[in-house]
Amino acid sequence: MYMGPSDGGPSFRVSNFHEVKDERSIAAQGFRTILHCDANSFFASCETMLHPEYAYVPMAVCGSVEERHGIVLAKNELAKKYGVQTAEPVWAAKQKCPELLTVRPTYGLYGEVSQKMNKIFYDYTDLVEPFGVDESWLDVTGSLRLFGDGEQIADTIRARVKRELGITVSVGVSFNKIFAKLGSDIKKPDATSVIPPDRFASIVWPMPVSALLFVGPSTTRTLKRIGVYTIGDLACCDIEVLRRALGKNGVLLREFALGRDFADVTVSGYEPEPKSVSNGMTFRHNLQTQNDVSFAVTYLSMSVAERLRKHNLCCNNVAVSIRSPNLTTINRQTSLDHPTCLWSEISRAALALVNANRNGEEEIYSVTVHAERLTRENEFLTQQQFFPEAWETAYRRKHSLESTVDAIRARYGKCAIGIASAVNNRLL
Ligand SMILES: [Mg+2]
Repeated sequence: MYMGPSDGGPSFRVSNFHEVKDERSIAAQGFRTILHCDANSFFASCETMLHPEYAYVPMAVCGSVEERHGIVLAKNELAKKYGVQTAEPVWAAKQKCPELLTVRPTYGLYGEVSQKMNKIFYDYTDLVEPFGVDESWLDVTGSLRLFGDGEQIADTIRARVKRELGITVSVGVSFNKIFAKLGSDIKKPDATSVIPPDRFASIVWPMPVSALLFVGPSTTRTLKRIGVYTIGDLACCDIEVLRRALGKNGVLLREFALGRDFADVTVSGYEPEPKSVSNGMTFRHNLQTQNDVSFAVTYLSMSVAERLRKHNLCCNNVAVSIRSPNLTTINRQTSLDHPTCLWSEISRAALALVNANRNGEEEIYSVTVHAERLTRENEFLTQQQFFPEAWETAYRRKHSLESTVDAIRARYGKCAIGIASAVNNRLL
């Protein structure tokens, strides 16, 4: 289940959910049929494709060489029976299940399988919108006469993905993207759940409000405070009360609860490619110690790197803006000896800049990390003759780990995995 950003209110930046449409012209077109396909235990299933013997033991894909600091990225059904949970430390998982087989993520595998899965989806419609590595929306409205109704298409797709890739998929079928997504969470693994337009309220409204896409932990808490516990409560809540609690996003969430999500299934490439990527933040306290500074820079660099990777870009320059408590700002930049999209490398460069431009223990009011002079990642990786092979292997390994972390963070929230100090940090 997607839990949204844990560090703020709901965010609709992903995809196109904020688009306002003319309801009358939509009504004239009739209801759409939208599928949300969500692969079950995706990383674990991919690993099992390569190593069929994994199917017979409790197994988890874990995210660190050093198991002491590793966390569970995905687990198979047998491990699930022991209570092994995604994003928990490996040592905790092993306490629940001592014979747990832990395997490392395989570079490139998940993206490859994801492409194969989406290729199957394209046989049923050309309107396919991937959402992360293991989920996609499909608008099959135009395919119904060819392939049967939404439920039949969902069942066909499930059978094919299972037969051809060995992966089970849960599919939600509904008349909008939000409810299709909700539907794919209702029954897992390997199931189809339908939320039809004439009966959606009886299915959706009793569900907890946190089941709705974009309602993360912090939004759930805010809604609880105004007495909204279920999706039905949200649908019936006074608009002004919601606006006061969550601003215009609150009003939009209520529209979703009422089934009024008109966002199109958009063929990928919705966000234009950025010229530079920055992330800045004023923390709850001024940055004082070296620990504070290094935490802040690392935290910001992680989201910069995540956005670079999302667009398959690397940066050749790293810059920082440092604001002091008297609100003067200095900007400094450095060029890197190789392009990168790794947060470990971006934060190292940014931290060196901050440290070189800070007088002793001078406090910092806010800091921004910029990634600049962007180039396409594949261009850089094909020009690898400039770099020794061992270096490339190390780079690829780090890249694999960091992109796996992106996938987890996108699904379970920014704090699910990342720098351990982000949890309960006084700066956030
Ligand atoms: Mg999944």
